[in-house]
Amino acid sequence: MKKIAVLTSGGDAPGMNAAARAVVRTAIYNGIEVYGIYQGYKGMLEGNIKKLEVGDVGNIINRGGTFLGSARLPEFADPEVRKEAIKNLEEIGIEGLVVIGGDGSYKGATKLSQEMNIKTIGIPGTIDNDIYGTDFTIGFDTALNTIIESIDKIRDTASSHDRVFVIEVMGRHAGDLALFAGIAGGAESVMIPEQKDTLEQVMERVNNAEKRGKKHSIIVLAEGVMSGAELSNKLKEQFGLESRYTTLGHVQRGGSPSAMDRVLASRLGNYAVDLLMEGISGKAVGIRDNKLVTTDFEDIFNATEHEIDLNLCEVSKQLGI
Ligand code: ADP
Repeated sequence: MKKIAVLTSGGDAPGMNAAARAVVRTAIYNGIEVYGIYQGYKGMLEGNIKKLEVGDVGNIINRGGTFLGSARLPEFADPEVRKEAIKNLEEIGIEGLVVIGGDGSYKGATKLSQEMNIKTIGIPGTIDNDIYGTDFTIGFDTALNTIIESIDKIRDTASSHDRVFVIEVMGRHAGDLALFAGIAGGAESVMIPEQKDTLEQVMERVNNAEKRGKKHSIIVLAEGVMSGAELSNKLKEQFGLESRYTTLGHVQRGGSPSAMDRVLASRLGNYAVDLLMEGISGKAVGIRDNKLVTTDFEDIFNATEHEIDLNLCEVSKQLGI
């Protein structure tokens, strides 16, 4: 393997820079030329590709977002469009590709390796923690810390005014961010898609907190269940409960990556290049029980159920949230 490329694709996540940096530095350490493809598959199609040196990834480990940029290009599902993009890779002689993104991005990578002589490895980058085959995705820990900061602030005003607050957090169909944030933020209740709690159960927890003398309540709601506005309305209509809701939104995707995300990204980026050097392809790297692992792209595409940490669900139940 003499030349590889790296791109970031799909939704950005804090720590993607640290992953790309690790790919670049590991490749150069091993005498491999490394190219950055800017704006994901869009940049591949447009030939927005540049050879990277160690200096190009200086001062980025602490920065959120992705210096390579990210873009969505639905047309990449069209083989004719990919043919044009492949020409750009072949012109340079790229033999290996590291794709930092989610399962949509992995699909693009799979198609490329079927249509040209290129080995592909995926690195899971998303705050949602919803990619099969890894306990944690890059960006999750940073987003979680951002949410906790917000919960702590909202708690100050909630307790001053004896209010019930619904805090809607991201995660798409996954409840990980809400579950972890509920536990770490000391919420009175958590609603996640994986547990399907009824509104009665949520109300019971709010009432239990009140019985313990707590006049304010924080309900952490995963966006995959319903919106904060919807839950707030339902609590009013069905139980006469007044609440305020806050949708944290895109602040959750930004910010300087946490130390844990930087280390995770560095390990995964380094591992991805190791695998390419061994001639391995069609797999995503991940972490399981703190060990580096790989999962076939096909297994990721076939996984229909999102895996949530069931032990943690039990912990949250026994803690009364
Ligand atoms: P994520 O990687 O976070 O899941 P998307 O699903 O938006 O994000 O995918 C990112 C990009 O990957 C898309 O904009 C498209 O360029 C490419 N992609 C997604 N699905 C496919 C597919 N089935 N075939 C080829 N390319 C795809």
